Amino acid sequence: MSELSIRKEIIETCLKMESLGINQGTSGNISHRHKDGILITPSGVSYDILKPKDIVFVPFSSKKDWVGEYPPSSELDFHFDILKAKPEIDCVLHNHSTYATSMAICNQDIPAHHYMVAVGGGHKIPCAPYATFGTAQLSKNVIKTLNGYNACLLANHGVVTVANSLKKALWLAVEVENLAKQYIMAKQIGEPTILSGKEMDKIVEAFKSYGLKK
Ligand code: 13P
Ligand code: ZN
Repeated sequence: MSELSIRKEIIETCLKMESLGINQGTSGNISHRHKDGILITPSGVSYDILKPKDIVFVPFSSKKDWVGEYPPSSELDFHFDILKAKPEIDCVLHNHSTYATSMAICNQDIPAHHYMVAVGGGHKIPCAPYATFGTAQLSKNVIKTLNGYNACLLANHGVVTVANSLKKALWLAVEVENLAKQYIMAKQIGEPTILSGKEMDKIVEAFKSYGLKK
């Protein structure tokens, strides 16, 4: 994929987060691996005015040597640290979608109330412990929590999804929001039944061969 198409796709994905109602304003951020570094949204710039040239390049050799007109997202640390440490992942997406963030505000994992929880790679969508936004500590918490998962909540903050394409990272973010909504709605009418670990093992295994892999 050319650098320009990645820059354009990052902006399209930001705009889709808004139109899908899973993010708004300057909340959230997106990155994509490119050559020996990452392309990432700038900090505090609203998505509707973003131009391809505004996406910032940060080389893996040094976070400080970013190239762009605006500084990179305040969450550069977790985007950079994930993409540097995990060569199998190409994209990181962060948002503040309402239902998933509500679970994160209660510092709760999304449990296996529905088999689709397995899309996150395990038996739950785990919640990373709280740390101030934009800090190295938040990045450490995210990396530790993501261990084996493709999605996690950030306590009192939002959601992170990782994938090998922006389409998939966005799809996963929408699914996490959907799962959180189902759980919160179900809680209004009773105590949700949680699928057993044995059942979720089967689902996680089945998902390895379900659908298109790209
Ligand atoms: P940026 O505008 O710096 O990317 O920050 C948004 C955000 O969601 C911080 O967690
Ligand atoms: Zn955020």
